[in-house]
Amino acid sequence: MLLLGSHISTQGGPSNAIERAVHIGCTAMQIFVKNNMQWHATPFTEAEATAFTQHPLHNKLGAIVAHAGYLINLGVEKTINHEKSLLSLAQELIRCEQLHIPFLVLHPGSHLGAGAAHGIRCVVESLNQIHADHPNLQVRIALETTAGQGSCLGSSFKELASILEQVSSPDRLRICLDTAHVFAAGYDLSSPQGAEKVFHEFDRIVGLHQLCVLHINESKASLGSRVDRHDNLGQGKIGLEAFRWIMQAEELAPIPKILETPKGKDLVEDVVAMKLLRSFIPNFL
Ligand SMILES: [Zn+2]
Ligand SMILES: [Zn+2]
Repeated sequence: MLLLGSHISTQGGPSNAIERAVHIGCTAMQIFVKNNMQWHATPFTEAEATAFTQHPLHNKLGAIVAHAGYLINLGVEKTINHEKSLLSLAQELIRCEQLHIPFLVLHPGSHLGAGAAHGIRCVVESLNQIHADHPNLQVRIALETTAGQGSCLGSSFKELASILEQVSSPDRLRICLDTAHVFAAGYDLSSPQGAEKVFHEFDRIVGLHQLCVLHINESKASLGSRVDRHDNLGQGKIGLEAFRWIMQAEELAPIPKILETPKGKDLVEDVVAMKLLRSFIPNFL
């Protein structure tokens, strides 16, 4: 089963996202498990969780992942925002667990001027603390590749690998690769040869077995610009050949592919993009 979909709004409750996703033909989806610009949320009610996990269309989605809120920053230490980040992340993990969502995609964090090495150490210690405080969670954090804007960590495969190497429970982590972010970070995916080389490098440094989600985004920003601006497929700087290669790559076939590209309320852009991506797979029914 091709696992292809997009980031879907949970407006009106998380179970509504399932309907929206299936309605536009998604076989995978990503959601926020709480308001992505707020710090805190109490657990879902039993009714909200059951409406999601027992939804009659739930089995139409072969993969469901969540994306963590944008305020969370694990790349610092001993600040009020860091305390809030740990609490917020724990609340999101618990909400994922309630919805039986296996992966929570998280941007590793920003060092805010203290340097990448220090930032990475803070991320590692934060993840260790979260893991120690919540030993029984099934949901895994999937660290996302970033564009490297400002002091954002995770724009090189080496940085992600070093987090995986240093944490106490690496098996509780996975990786999400965002095509727009890696391109803006300087990995040239724009030709089939380039895409193959980038994924080969990812495999060598991080390991393809760590990859649990692909974010399929075009980039408004140029190669190596370190600017994070998503664009619709066919309109950005990466070009369609990269996406054709990704859709055809056998080693990426089992990985859920999620669009996070601009769209209006009727989600027609997602429908068009999914149709285009499917057309890249020879003999796809
Ligand atoms: Zn993200
Ligand atoms: Zn992304």
